[in-house]
Amino acid sequence: MQGFAAGAALDPGPRGRAGMTRVVLIGGGHSHVEVLRALARRPQVGLRLSLISREVLTPYSGMLPGVIAGHYPASAAHIDLARLCAAAGAELRHDSVTALEPDAGRLRCASGAAQAWDLLSVNSGSTPGLQSIDGADGAGIPVKPIGEFLPRWEQLLTRLRASSPRPFRLAIVGAGAGGVELALAIEYRLRRVEGFGQLRLALIDAAPRLLPEHTPRLGQRLARILAHRQIEVHTGTRVAAARAGELLTSTQRIIQADEILWVTPASAPAWPASAGLATDAGGFIRVDDQLRSVSHPRIFAAGDVASFNSRGLPKAGVFAVRQGPVLAENLARATRGQTLLRYRPQGRFLTLISTGNRYAVAARGGWTAQGAWVWRWKDWLDRRFIGRFR
Ligand SMILES: Cc1cc2nc3c(=O)[nH]c(=O)nc-3n(C[C@H](O)[C@H](O)[C@H](O)COP(=O)(O)OP(=O)(O)OC[C@H]3O[C@@H](n4cnc5c(N)ncnc54)[C@H](O)[C@@H]3O)c2cc1C
Repeated sequence: MQGFAAGAALDPGPRGRAGMTRVVLIGGGHSHVEVLRALARRPQVGLRLSLISREVLTPYSGMLPGVIAGHYPASAAHIDLARLCAAAGAELRHDSVTALEPDAGRLRCASGAAQAWDLLSVNSGSTPGLQSIDGADGAGIPVKPIGEFLPRWEQLLTRLRASSPRPFRLAIVGAGAGGVELALAIEYRLRRVEGFGQLRLALIDAAPRLLPEHTPRLGQRLARILAHRQIEVHTGTRVAAARAGELLTSTQRIIQADEILWVTPASAPAWPASAGLATDAGGFIRVDDQLRSVSHPRIFAAGDVASFNSRGLPKAGVFAVRQGPVLAENLARATRGQTLLRYRPQGRFLTLISTGNRYAVAARGGWTAQGAWVWRWKDWLDRRFIGRFR
């Protein structure tokens, strides 16, 4: 595990104040905003709460494609953690956790600060996995962290607006729901809003079909829409390397790309496994039905960073959101030594994929539908979700 600098000062916290439990939340993800909201509404005695977050304004990924398409300002798709923490009586530390000592109950941040905790909860999300792609680290733009992606998207827009008209080839690697939504939002924004007629967009995935985690019927609907919008789809195409101006596939095919966006499957941060927490093969923290680490009972995890022990769950915000209230209750119960609640994941869940042009496709189980009304429905749900934190 990563070392702790000798002699580093630990945040003294409330240790010694009778009955106080220091609960530290890592990451302002979809579950932790629900935890903060729950604790703001129902403050808990004997609990001292802190949030360590890389961002003060945490992005809501459901509205990211709408921001790219130009339907919402970026501010509409972010939750203000400073306000939320103030309402919940939590201390906000604007920092990034880099190392953990689970047995000692300490953690270390990028700034060098250390913090002690009695109970820990991790909801720090995931980033696109690039490990198997040679040269990917220095090339292109990963869609996550969204806080770093959005400024780079704005820079790309500025660059395109400033250049004289010429062909521009944009490759999006990863054709899961996020990649497909992003491709369609970008097509709408660049071709229809900004008027870049010479744009060539390619969507690439190693899987044999689009949206491999969803039903073939949903994939077929989106394949038709992508074809209609003149977005090239390269399924069954594994990207092996990224070089200046091009991608190289595992079959030695070259795909020209003036810019690359990475929306590849989720990968885990390194520090949980380095700290000795039980993780799955991908490095995601293994949790039991109560969202508690299977190896360290004082640590909870939710959202993308967690690997649910009972069954594999898709890395989707809907699960992170639903885990939030159970996590809030379990953190409160754990401080009192009470029996914890079980989280029961929904069997079927609603998927809403926007297509950039105020139109969307819906799926739930085997049912699918599409239309402008689906977009209005998604828009209403997204605004309602984010409105709860205002
Ligand atoms: C384009 C796109 C569209 C999507 N649309 C949808 C959708 O419509 N519906 C859906 O269900 N899913 C969607 N997803 C998937 C969704 O983004 C993720 O499943 C979801 O964000 C996971 O939530 P989370 O709470 O686990 O983490 P996140 O939302 O990623 O939040 C984690 C937070 O923790 C912070 N953090 C990370 N590491 C640290 C650290 N070490 N220290 C401190 N803070 C840290 C991050 O900066 C971030 O703010 C989409 C994904 C993409 C790429």
